[in-house]
Amino acid sequence: MERPAQQPSDPRKSIGVHMKCCHVYVYAHLNAAGNAYVAWCPKCAKQVRLEVVAEGGSSSRFFEAS
Ligand SMILES: [Zn+2]
Repeated sequence: MERPAQQPSDPRKSIGVHMKCCHVYVYAHLNAAGNAYVAWCPKCAKQVRLEVVAEGGSSSRFFEAS
């Protein structure tokens, strides 16, 4: 099966993340491999990585990054 490689505006590929370091809310985007969401804190440039849970994990689309 082939799927388009670029779907920049697909809302399913981003999740909200609360950056606890600077108390800001950002969106993390699914990486190219599709196995993790990545985001950067806009204030201190810290990178966060959230592994994609295939099953059984949280169904929440909101996460906190410490
Ligand atoms: Zn920060």
